[in-house]
Amino acid sequence: MAGIYIHIPFCKTRCIYCDFYTITNETRMDDFVKTVCIEAQLRKKEIAESVHTVYFGGGTPSRLNARHFEQIFETLFSQYSIDPNAEITLEANPDDLTNNYLKMLHDFPFNRLSMGIQSFDENELKFLGRRHSARQAIDTVAVCQQNGFDNISIDLMYGLPAQTIEIWEKNLHQAIALYIQHISAYHLIYEDHTRLEALRRNGKVRAVDEELSNQMFSLLIDLVTENGFEHYEISNFAKYGLYSRHNTSYWNDEKYLGLGPAAHSFDGQNRSWNVASLTRYIEEINNGNLPSEIEHLDIYTQYNEFIITRLRTMWGADIQQLKSKFGEELFNYCLMNAQKYIENHLLKIENGNLKLTREGIFISDGIMSDLMWVR
Ligand code: SF4
Repeated sequence: MAGIYIHIPFCKTRCIYCDFYTITNETRMDDFVKTVCIEAQLRKKEIAESVHTVYFGGGTPSRLNARHFEQIFETLFSQYSIDPNAEITLEANPDDLTNNYLKMLHDFPFNRLSMGIQSFDENELKFLGRRHSARQAIDTVAVCQQNGFDNISIDLMYGLPAQTIEIWEKNLHQAIALYIQHISAYHLIYEDHTRLEALRRNGKVRAVDEELSNQMFSLLIDLVTENGFEHYEISNFAKYGLYSRHNTSYWNDEKYLGLGPAAHSFDGQNRSWNVASLTRYIEEINNGNLPSEIEHLDIYTQYNEFIITRLRTMWGADIQQLKSKFGEELFNYCLMNAQKYIENHLLKIENGNLKLTREGIFISDGIMSDLMWVR
């Protein structure tokens, strides 16, 4: 089984914290869609197996129109073997999802919406540079549900500079009240080269302290799981087993093909990534070249990726698989380094899987880096 990711690099405006490859000039959208279809044809041989997830990510894929989706789906269905039950996700911004737009989406096989809401607090939304209001986000979820979308995920953000635990709690209660199926909640990160990071450097904003961050994370886990969501990955919560199948396949080392500028691919042994420039992407693909770089993953890199992806999930790392895949040396290395965390109840072995405990989740980065192989 395999997945396809399509990076739609357009955003109407840019949020202050974002470091994804996006552009706000939408004039080349038609050329981009035509080019993505050419890339899908050129790379057809890379995915012979059945495709069980298709993910339109970005950027803001909800900037595309019916004609664009028609071209992309026609290409995908003619070139790849798309499973009839494939999970097909559209990332969307609430302000794009009007009633008419949602009706148009029904002409296509989308069965999952992932909405970047981030907050239900007007001040936070303004600070982050989001284009929608809290009311708009709440109403949009209802309109999506009225239009028959029954697998909806929202993104939330915590650890914002002026955020209090009370504001975060209100955001969480509002999210839970929407009767959605999935919540992804990320701590705000001060990424290099973002306006947010410049504000921090100039002393205009201050990062929240670690204690408050931990309180917020703890509240997130408690409130969301008490309300019927499973905490299946450090930042992801799903109802009734409605995990993101696309993201779960990343954590399970399944193959995926990334189309579009800056999109990443994985073929089981190698990672590759397309050039992060729309102009170069269009130029090269239209000349029949793939503008990408490739990195072969040696056994140690594969082991490190196994540790950081598997331990992030509630299923953990299967230790027998660890032994058979990476051999005695890395197996022993992992268990030897895990021992002190197991003794301190930060890691546990359950049903043959090495997992983070609830306490371990709070220092997961440190634990994972300790288990990783260092040359
Ligand atoms: S809408 Fe999403 S991709 Fe676009 S700038 Fe904001 S965070 Fe980045």
